Amino acid sequence: MEPIIGIDLGTTNSEVAFIFNGEIEVITDNDNGIVPSCVGLNESGNVIVGTEAFNQALVSPEKTILSVKRLMGAEQQIKLGEELFTPQEISAFILKGLKERAEKRLQQTVSKAVITVPAYFTDAQRQATREAGEIAGLQVVRIINEPTAASLAYERVNPETRRILVYDLGGGTFDVSIVKVEQGVVEVLSSTGDNHLGGDDFDWKIVDHLAGEIQTQHKISVKDDPMIMARLKRAAEKAKIELSAAPFAMVEEDHLVKHGGKDIHFSYELSRTAFEDMIEPDLSRTMESITRAMKDAAVLPSAIEKIILVGGSTRIPMVSRMLEEKIGLQPHGEIDPDLCVAMGAGMQAAREMGLEDSGVLIDVTPYTFGTSALGEIDGRPTETRAVPLIRRNTKLPARKSEVFLTVYDDQEAVDVQVCQGEAPDALDNILLGNYLFELTKAPAGSPIVLHFDLDLNGILKIKAVEKNTGNEINAVIENAISRFSDQELVDTQNRINGIWSGKGSAVDGEDNASEKPDSDNALPAKYEEMITRARATLDAAAEDDRDEIINIIEDIRDAAAEERWEDADAACSELDDILFYIG
Ligand code: AMP
Repeated sequence: MEPIIGIDLGTTNSEVAFIFNGEIEVITDNDNGIVPSCVGLNESGNVIVGTEAFNQALVSPEKTILSVKRLMGAEQQIKLGEELFTPQEISAFILKGLKERAEKRLQQTVSKAVITVPAYFTDAQRQATREAGEIAGLQVVRIINEPTAASLAYERVNPETRRILVYDLGGGTFDVSIVKVEQGVVEVLSSTGDNHLGGDDFDWKIVDHLAGEIQTQHKISVKDDPMIMARLKRAAEKAKIELSAAPFAMVEEDHLVKHGGKDIHFSYELSRTAFEDMIEPDLSRTMESITRAMKDAAVLPSAIEKIILVGGSTRIPMVSRMLEEKIGLQPHGEIDPDLCVAMGAGMQAAREMGLEDSGVLIDVTPYTFGTSALGEIDGRPTETRAVPLIRRNTKLPARKSEVFLTVYDDQEAVDVQVCQGEAPDALDNILLGNYLFELTKAPAGSPIVLHFDLDLNGILKIKAVEKNTGNEINAVIENAISRFSDQELVDTQNRINGIWSGKGSAVDGEDNASEKPDSDNALPAKYEEMITRARATLDAAAEDDRDEIINIIEDIRDAAAEERWEDADAACSELDDILFYIG
């Protein structure tokens, strides 16, 4: 039987699982199975992944790519050595590492996988994940949502559970889902979250705090030194993890910086209370998401029977405390929060192999998909009234059709727009696709039937049919990112394989590699990340907000170009606030 592996492709860490003798096992390789989602270049210019890449991040931050998952679906180029890569290609290196790990354990070639993604991943991000798999030589037989995978893993241990709340706070993403488990059927009733919130953000908050402290103690600004910032980031994460078990953590960084010919040793005690103050606004936002998820699922807190914790950041004691206050239940951590999703992916993979048929997976769409038509908004006529076809939280796979009528006699064509979002005006939603449908001559009022077909992987197929003639157009939403043609895929696979085995085009070069956009004035990653995040909201933002966002992006760029880091940070935080309110 051809093996299918389950992969949790995480922002910070990834894992691969497989069923051995009826038991799901997270595959280890002289470690605990947790593989940093890290890609880098070593001294000889070869690509390295996982722990090896993570370990060199400190000494060569400019040759290491972290958190690439946050860029999935974006049309961004990442420079590594002499070459530019797409986020899919960088993710493919991580997947190749996991594939090899599985092959070593299974002693056979593996070419199929189930991969998990955050419930809130857009169509473009799911497509990018699928492409990453293909480039790595893995046919992605199914993409499932992370909270769904966690529920699957949990259901195996607790078959009696009825309604569970899955709270997933990882390194870079947050999801909350309400899941119903009944007689082996796992149904996600609702899912919501923020795909730009996680432990990474908490680390950066500590880093900012520490940099401020260094400024106060030693009158030195360290914010524009990537090496020092990388050291502080690692120290911040270490302190954060310690604070999950102790009320205080010492940050000790010897020889952190040279100043006036002297080495500065930085030493600082961070208290859990101070850390909790920093992250309280973020955690409060996650609690608001819970309210929304419960509302969407029409479930009261009293109906929740279990809370499952997923993701490393749920080890922060304040998370459990706030959840207990909100729901009145103590969260469960029977299954390792780091491995829960991978185990669920492994279970689903086993099912795909026909080995585990104990349960049926029902998934829902976290987005509303619709089109735009003539109509009214608040009593005013408009050409861009949003018409939802598949509503948020509809079970997948979902198929919906709607009839539209031509407006003029002998209308020559109709512009079929496909939008994502729930705003009444289609202009405020995200435009996913725009297809011109040429019509045959017919009187006004001739029907056109629009079909939307959303599959379990979140891939949306569209068909518009002219009812009188049966003429039709078909499209698959490929979103902003370009899909590969077969030849492009083969070329990309060959290129990545060549680099992977160290035989292909050299990736080392005089020029230091760095995770930077393809631009002359590359910005530090945290600004780039924020700008990417802001750009993603532009289509859906109201005009005033859009202008303001664009202005602040310019402010960040200007401040960074002039190395006014405090101004850049202030602009960044202003942007963060706006995005939060818009969100
Ligand atoms: P994940 O994306 O689920 O792998 O979660 C990774 C995140 O969890 C990183 O930001 C880690 O720093 C964080 N993390 C791991 N262990 C702990 C801990 N004991 N306390 C707080 N955060 C943790």
